[in-house]
Amino acid sequence: MPATALPEVRATYAIPLRSRFRRITVREGVLLRGDAGWGEFSPFWDYDAAESAAWLRAALEATEEGWPPPVRDRIPVNVTVPAVGPERAHAIVTASGGCTTAKVKVAEPGQDLAEEQARLEAVRDALGPHGRIRVDANAAWDLETAVHRLGHLDRAAGGLEYAEQPCPSVADLAALRRRTDVPIAADESIRRAEDPLAVRRAEAADVVVLKVQPLGGVRVCLQLAEEVGLPVVVSSALETSVGIAAGLALAAALPELTHACGLATVHLLTADTVPDPLLPDGGTIPVRRPEPTPGTLAEIAAGDDVTRAWSDRLAEVAGHLAVAG
Ligand SMILES: [Mg+2]
Repeated sequence: MPATALPEVRATYAIPLRSRFRRITVREGVLLRGDAGWGEFSPFWDYDAAESAAWLRAALEATEEGWPPPVRDRIPVNVTVPAVGPERAHAIVTASGGCTTAKVKVAEPGQDLAEEQARLEAVRDALGPHGRIRVDANAAWDLETAVHRLGHLDRAAGGLEYAEQPCPSVADLAALRRRTDVPIAADESIRRAEDPLAVRRAEAADVVVLKVQPLGGVRVCLQLAEEVGLPVVVSSALETSVGIAAGLALAAALPELTHACGLATVHLLTADTVPDPLLPDGGTIPVRRPEPTPGTLAEIAAGDDVTRAWSDRLAEVAGHLAVAG
């Protein structure tokens, strides 16, 4: 990492979500600015300082180095449907900017199978017969629950493209993969794992989800994609457009891109850090790097307590990278 000091912190943001997502209602983070451009540092609060170091490496790559050259100029993306009711799910897909793939959240605490089936049926209705539907369980199920649920959800959806991280462990993903016709995608098993290649060795997945911030940058992800040797879905960590631009850069630089990416998540936020957000049009997002303006930064600025908390956090995480905070 070339940085010996942190680039300038330009803003701390706090942006409410339209729906609860990943058990949070407000997204927070820091925007940095260096010679190579803007970077976003926004680890969720359940990531400790050591784990958040990768997130800061990704931000420093954006601000100090920039990204490898693109080999494509538009990225196909999925619409993300949170754990909402069927009418809302239908409306989200219809308003998605032409997305033909939907990622539907399942395994929400307090919800039952019938609610998930209704959500999937609504999404299928909105997408039409040729759309693709994937589900994400965020590692919530044990093996038996996953086998049972996926059978029902596959039927309700009229066929699933894949199920993302249905179980927490690589061993259970591998066992599940032999007991279901639904392809399996690994997300948490890659981004929160000591050894991301364990998925490959165990033949535990058909697809891997790569996220730039948790994995430490675009270049780290490109290397990992090469080592894993499976189709890649680049997804966001629910960043603002400054962070999404890094995901687009990764998707644009991959030698092959066979699946829609999970980068159309800015619409889950009620505001953005840039005036021209990275939203899909015709089911794709153009590869570009929008910049914040003083006006957008003023609108999403966090209060003093949140700003102080992130300043402390940034200094702590920088300590883990031996970067002067
Ligand atoms: Mg996921």
